[in-house]
Amino acid sequence: MASPVLHGLAGAGLAYAMAGGKGLPLFASGRKTGGYLLAGAALACLPDVDYLPGLLRGYLNTTHQQATHSLAWVLLAAFGIWLLGRAVQPAWFGKRTLALLLVLIGSHLAIDWVTADHFAPYGFPLWFPFSEARTLGPAWLPAWEKTALADLARGNNLRTLGIEFGAGLAFEAGCAAAKRGWTRRGSAL
Ligand SMILES: [Zn+2]
Repeated sequence: MASPVLHGLAGAGLAYAMAGGKGLPLFASGRKTGGYLLAGAALACLPDVDYLPGLLRGYLNTTHQQATHSLAWVLLAAFGIWLLGRAVQPAWFGKRTLALLLVLIGSHLAIDWVTADHFAPYGFPLWFPFSEARTLGPAWLPAWEKTALADLARGNNLRTLGIEFGAGLAFEAGCAAAKRGWTRRGSAL
C-alpha cells in the first residue's frame, strides 16, 4: 500500500487538473489554489483514516485496509462530503465537484491496488460489505515498511518514498499537461 506521499501528490495533481471553469467558481481564484491543492491531497489520503485506531495503539496496521478501502465507502464518503458541502455552500458543490470528490477519494484505491503489500491482511476488500474477498493488483510500486507513522522517515523507506515522490511528480506533470490540453490556456486556477 502506498504512503501519504504518493496519495497526496496524486490528489493535488488531480485537483489541479479538474479545477477551474464555470462549474467550480471556488477554484477559479488563484488565491485559493494552495488550500485547494491541500484539500485534494487530503481527500486522496482519506481512506487511510483507518490508520487512526492503529496510531492510538502504537501499531499502524491494526485496522488498516478494511472497510474504508472499499468502493461502497468511497461512494458514501464522496456523497456525504458533497451533501454536507451543498448544505453549507450550494454554489460550490455542483455536479463537477461531486465528480471531483469521487475521483479524488477513488484515486486512493487505484494507487493502493498497483502497490505491493507486505503485511497481512494482503490487499483490500473492494466489494465490502457485499464480499470479504480481498483484491490486490500488479505491485508496480514498492510498499513502504511501517509499524508507525514515524517509519516514513526511516532510512530503509527512503528508496520507496523516493520512488513514490518521483511517480507522484510525474503524475502531477501529466495532470498539468492534460489540463493544458483541455483548457487551451495557461493555468486555469
Ligand atoms: Zn490506503
